[in-house]
Amino acid sequence: MESTKSKYVSKLVNELKPSGIRRFFDLAAGMEGVISLGVGEPDFVTPWHVRESAINSLEQGYTSYTPNAGLLELRQEIAYYMKNQFNVEYSPKEEIIVTVGASSAIDIAMRTILDPGDEVIVVEPCFVAYVPMVELAGGVAVQVQASKENDFKIQPDQLEAVITDKTKAIMLCSPNNPTGTMLSKHELEDIANLAKKYDLLIIADEIYAELAYDEEYTSMAAIEGMKERTILVSGFSKGFAMTGWRLGFVCSPPEISNAMLKVHQYALMCASTMAQYAAIEALKNGRPEVDEMIKSYRRRRNYIVQSFNEIGLECHNPGGAFYAFPSIKSTGLSSQEFAEQLLLKEGVAVVPGDVFGESGEGHIRCSYATSLEQLQEAIKRIKHFIENL
Ligand code: PMP
Repeated sequence: MESTKSKYVSKLVNELKPSGIRRFFDLAAGMEGVISLGVGEPDFVTPWHVRESAINSLEQGYTSYTPNAGLLELRQEIAYYMKNQFNVEYSPKEEIIVTVGASSAIDIAMRTILDPGDEVIVVEPCFVAYVPMVELAGGVAVQVQASKENDFKIQPDQLEAVITDKTKAIMLCSPNNPTGTMLSKHELEDIANLAKKYDLLIIADEIYAELAYDEEYTSMAAIEGMKERTILVSGFSKGFAMTGWRLGFVCSPPEISNAMLKVHQYALMCASTMAQYAAIEALKNGRPEVDEMIKSYRRRRNYIVQSFNEIGLECHNPGGAFYAFPSIKSTGLSSQEFAEQLLLKEGVAVVPGDVFGESGEGHIRCSYATSLEQLQEAIKRIKHFIENL
């Protein structure tokens, strides 16, 4: 997609850059035999019983709108899930909204909390949508850079240094896209203390919470005193292998949830009805498949991280999500050059780290949500590529 400008388009949108990830998809799309480590989605198909429950809902003729906040039965299941899995209690009627993916949850959160000029601290490298979503909501994204030296864990003093009287919220993502870095309970507590000290909200993007491989996952909302200042974003795309269903949810205190519901009701009305029926089934009976997928991702993570280090691309051990983020600095190429040449010469698609923010430069994002055989072949080709530079 070209970044063209039009007199009919607002200045704000004219200035937005299209996502840098797409450029590589487009390049790879025209080539044969490409192994893609580019896409940020599970390679698993949604389990059959989950698909079947959506089919059943259609057979029953459940084709109308649901309540704006989503089917009450689904919100109840989400409340059980959040309690059982992450030890946070939410009221299905007052604190949970079912959204169109985590994407729309982040969007309505920004539009609900921001006045023009309000600042949101965005920890990068990060998911490509955060900064545009802050800006589209009239806010200012203040980017702070997590560094490789700290395994891409943001340090509290870095956050404190950029807090101003305009700061409204900190946008956090753990496990992170693109680095896979997961923050421990203790690290979350340090950030929580800042939020309390300066009366800030935390928008916690916990879409990868299911995919934690080494340590038990701690939700920001489970930290003492944080539920009341956390907007917790999650969904079914990653852990439940349901990207195409477009289903997420957002949990927050009633005063914020009620306000977000206004934005959601005008912008989106409600999430897809059949997808909501599928999600009820996923939460009720989907645990065995989720556990199997986690095991498989863990195996692949172990393989790819070890392999990158063996072939000379230094890679920290990501605690979660399904991304490895090796350094390519030893090759002397920029991340854009590396990704483009690797694709053209060896037919392996990866994402250059700079599309996730300046601090991503010198790295590439490799999704390991693909079969072990494909990963092995990709590593072989990347090794060949580096040896022939
Ligand atoms: N947050 C992060 C960190 C993501 O990586 C993604 C998807 N790549 C999303 C949110 C959006 O997820 P969804 O499909 O639920 O909209």
